[in-house]
Order: sequence, then structure tokens, then C-alpha cells
Amino acid sequence: MKTAKEESSQVSSVTSAPQAEPAALPGADGAPVVELRGVSKTYPGGDVAAVDNMDLNIQEGEFFSILGSSGSGKTTTLRMIAGFEQPTKGNVLLDGIDATGVPPYRRDVNTVFQNYALFPHMKVEANVAYPLKMAGTPKGEIKPRVAEALERVSMTGFEKRLPHQLSGGQRQRVALARALIGRPRLLLLDEPLGALDLKLRENMLLVLKHLQREVGITFIYVTHDQGEALAMSDRLAVMNGGYVEQLASPTEIYDRPATSFVAGFIGKSNLLECSCTSGDKAQAGTMPLVLGEAPGEEKFTLSIRPETIVVGEDSRGLPNHYEAVVGDVLFLGHEREVMVDCGDQRLVVRAGQQIYSPGDPIEFGWSPDKAVIVKATGSWQQQQQSQDA
Ligand code: ADP
Ligand code: MG
Repeated sequence: MKTAKEESSQVSSVTSAPQAEPAALPGADGAPVVELRGVSKTYPGGDVAAVDNMDLNIQEGEFFSILGSSGSGKTTTLRMIAGFEQPTKGNVLLDGIDATGVPPYRRDVNTVFQNYALFPHMKVEANVAYPLKMAGTPKGEIKPRVAEALERVSMTGFEKRLPHQLSGGQRQRVALARALIGRPRLLLLDEPLGALDLKLRENMLLVLKHLQREVGITFIYVTHDQGEALAMSDRLAVMNGGYVEQLASPTEIYDRPATSFVAGFIGKSNLLECSCTSGDKAQAGTMPLVLGEAPGEEKFTLSIRPETIVVGEDSRGLPNHYEAVVGDVLFLGHEREVMVDCGDQRLVVRAGQQIYSPGDPIEFGWSPDKAVIVKATGSWQQQQQSQDA
């Protein structure tokens, strides 16, 4: 439990930007709302970079997510955009203008954290009104804007409650209303649903997505939850150990993972270590393979999603077709996941409602265009850079 003092000290950093005023920084037309150019951050005493040579562009009105496991550098990235941390290398540009040295309160950016950070002693209406008050907004204007902000998050009628009289989801909606009331140009959300249970999270995801569409504000949403990131985002960056492994749309990330890390982190994937034998032919251990195109390298990793593998007789006409033995079966409710042993390779396939038992013969196959060549983890960006250089 956080003490009231801790909570309110966090609030002051959250709401310090006087967003009721016009943008603090005049923007260059057509420039991305946020641009990171070669941004690295090494904390004092840290020997590895928390964020390593990050490049990204976020466009106006985008719902952009940063997805990665704990410690991958997501919060550090957000804090550099908000101005709470300075990069050790590289530049953060806001609306095309270098934000180096611009303090957080002069950036037209607001942040929502995981733990609500509402003032515990203030009623809902006072919490939501706070940023406008700080910005010196005329009194007559504040009341209707508070009402509008609460309506947007479906919290009309809760004006007189104190935070402790609300549920977690309600508190988080009030925090959202407060973050949006000043109409910031950019809203940063750092795992804002992390403290909520699953059902509430799903509900809040819809609230957030609708809200973002309605207000048209650029959102940067940080999460370790791949489902959230895929469902919500226009584009997302997948981070791993301070690196951006891939930056693309959800479908592209799912269908064409750039690295073995992305292939394994997002959904499930069969990763086969292959050697090219000739042209578009290769070998993964004892398994011969036909590829969609010549791989361009002698050794490479192939990613094949279980759900793209055809199981049973329908697989017979496919260029990659195998007869194998069932190793294990996992019952997942809506379907069965089957581990198949094919020569010296083990793959995961989805068998739908088909019943298999360990030891059963099984045939399966895939079309060459369903298999994606992925780069080794972490090196993807470095290779891009050496190509650019
Ligand atoms: P995430 O939000 O993805 O969990 P963070 O950005 O918080 O990751 O952390 C990235 C790395 O930087 C971690 O190894 C973490 O321990 C380290 N780190 C974060 N904040 C600090 C700090 N203030 N001082 C030193 N190291 C830090
Ligand atoms: Mg974090």
C-alpha cells in the first residue's frame, strides 16, 4: 500500500504540465509527435544500457504501444519522452523540435501510471479539475470540462466520492479523466491496467480505445501483455533488453516476426534451425524443407506458427508434408495442441477438435509462404545500423 504522501508526490509529477494552455512547444508542420533518434540511456553506475540506440517515430493520433517483459526499458523510454530522464546519447524530438533540456512541465505530455496516483483527500471532481486549476483556467470553464471528462470515462455521478470510495477500475478511469482534461498533445500510459483483474482489464481496454478515437490524442501505451498490445495498437515496438527488436503493425509483427525473440514472445512459434541445401531447399536436422524463396544465407532460423500448420489428410498436397508421431497432447479447452516428433525435430501443431494420443501417427504440412526467416535476437537492429552506415 502506498501512503497518502507517496501518492500525492507522484501526482505532482503527473500533473505538473499546464496543459490547459496551448502547446508549450510550437510544432513543425507534419513532424512526428515524438521522434527518438539513436536514444540510449545508461543509469549512473549501470554497466548495460537500459535503452540502447532506439529510433522511433510516432505520428499524430496514433495508438502506439511499447511491448516488452519487465526490465526491457519501457518505463525508461517513457520517462525520457516525458522529460523525467535525459538520454545519455541521442535526441528526443517533440513535434520536430529537440526537447533536450526542456523540463517535464513545459512538454505537452501527460502520464498515467499503474497505481492511479489520485489525491486521496480530494473528491473525484477536485482531482479531475486539478490540472485546469494549476493552469489558471477560469472557474466558469472548469465545471463543464470536469463534467465532460467524467462523462467520457463513464464516471458521471461519482463527482463527490473520495478515491477510497471507488473500485480500482473506477479510480483508474478518474486518473484517465484527469490526464486528458488538459487535452495534452501526447498521453503516456505506463502499464495503466496492471493493477486491475482480468475482466476489468478487458473492459478498460475498450474504454481506452474508444477514448483515444474520440479525443484523437496520440497515445503511447506501455505493456508487458502481448494481447493488449496487439489488440490496441496502430503500431508497436517490441523491446528486449533495451533494444527495439521490431517496430511494425500488429499484423505484421504477428505474421512476419523479424527476430526469433519476437516470434517466441508474441504468440507461439516453431523455430527451426536450418541450413540451405540449394536454392529454396533447406534442411532442419533430418527434416527437408521447401522455402518461399532462397534464404540468402547458409544458416538461418525459420519461424512457423502452429496455427499455420495444416494437420491431417488436407496437408497432403502441400510442398512441405510430413508423417510423424504424436509426442504429447495439451488440452486447451477450445482446441488441442499437439507436439509432434518428426525425425529429430519436435514441432507444435494445433489439432482443433481432432483427438490424438501420444504415439499416434500424424501427418501435417505447411505452405512455404507461411514460414518466415527470422534474425537472431538483439542483432536485428545492429545489422540494420551497419547496413545504414
Ligand atoms: P521496464 O519498464 O521495461 O520494466 P525499466 O525501464 O524500468 O524497464 O528498466 C530497464 C532497466 O533499467 C532495468 O534493468 C532496470 O533495473 C534499470 N533501471 C530502471 N530505473 C533505474 C534507475 N533509476 N537506476 C538504475 N537502474 C535503473
Ligand atoms: Mg516499467
